[in-house]
Amino acid sequence: MERDKKVEYICTYCGQKVVRSRLIGRPAPGKCIRKQGDKPHSWRQNRILGG
Ligand SMILES: [Zn+2]
Repeated sequence: MERDKKVEYICTYCGQKVVRSRLIGRPAPGKCIRKQGDKPHSWRQNRILGG
């Protein structure tokens, strides 16, 4: 059985970081505080944790 690795995502716009299970995938778009209006975060995979 494959290990449940965690992936750290970072918003390239505001720098917010979120750690999620790799099996779950990308975090919810949410609202980016650095963008004008109700725009979502721009999540990018930053690094893989554990394993
Ligand atoms: Zn953001």
